[in-house]
Amino acid sequence: MLAKGMLIVLSGPSGVGKGTVRGAMLKDSVNQFKYSVSMTTRKMRPGEKNGVDYFFCSKAEFEKKIQQGQMLEYARYVDNYYGTPLQYVQDTLDSGKDVLLEIEVNGAMQVREKMPDGVFIFLTPPDLSSLRSRITHRGSEDLTTINKRMEKARQEIKMMSNYDYAVVNDEVPRAVKRIEQIVTSEHLRVPRVIDSYRKMIGDL
Ligand code: 5GP
Repeated sequence: MLAKGMLIVLSGPSGVGKGTVRGAMLKDSVNQFKYSVSMTTRKMRPGEKNGVDYFFCSKAEFEKKIQQGQMLEYARYVDNYYGTPLQYVQDTLDSGKDVLLEIEVNGAMQVREKMPDGVFIFLTPPDLSSLRSRITHRGSEDLTTINKRMEKARQEIKMMSNYDYAVVNDEVPRAVKRIEQIVTSEHLRVPRVIDSYRKMIGDL
């Protein structure tokens, strides 16, 4: 039987650099995985592409997907919906490939309930002031939205205790390296590999 892929959930507060770390992982990581493109109702930012950064859709379309049970998880975040389409994740894991999700904390906790054997990684800023300057320098949001995101980030940071690993994003390449080490080690955990050793163990 084909071994199932591993689900890797990268989460953390808005502005911590999850998207940048994810991008660097897709480009450079020694680990092989497929990225699950999320669905969102928020407006496309300059430079973003439909189907690459997100599947952009209307509120009505998103709510229909929820009703049809097609979302693994979803969250309302700063007045928009964000969610993970279930089918892609299931099919890819079943095909033996690892799947990476990059999602906010409420969604990550829903995934933890449904897929507890995933690896849950919390990306954290070194401190709150560096997070604020990151959110501010992104320049795509007005002050009200920035303040909303900072308040949300404080709440989100408290959720760290629900994760398996905390990775500080001080520098992107170092954060990627830490995640690679986690993924490599997680693949060696006995519950994940024991089936492939049954013959050797004589426990068939
Ligand atoms: P942004 O608008 O900056 O692209 O994303 C806002 C927040 O939504 C980020 O924290 C991002 O990680 C999160 N996010 C992106 N996709 C998903 C998803 O599919 N589900 C959930 N729960 N959060 C997501």
